[in-house]
Amino acid sequence: MKCVICRNSDIQMKAIEEEIKSRGDIFLIPMQVLVCSSCGERYYDRKAMKILEEMRSKIEEKSLEVKEVGRILRVQAT
Ligand SMILES: [Zn+2]
Repeated sequence: MKCVICRNSDIQMKAIEEEIKSRGDIFLIPMQVLVCSSCGERYYDRKAMKILEEMRSKIEEKSLEVKEVGRILRVQAT
């Protein structure tokens, strides 16, 4: 498999945290996906897509156990 962005062929399974935004909150979803070692492009297989879909609906239903790890701070426009 080659990276469609940079044509590099070094693509490896890596542990990442995918971000899902919902009403101003950002949820970090730890998961394993294929990542290009050169440009960092992420490739989601069917299994990864399914996990993200499930997470999205669980976030909507508020049926996830979450822990606050930080705040989102917006800087005033100048
Ligand atoms: Zn790449």
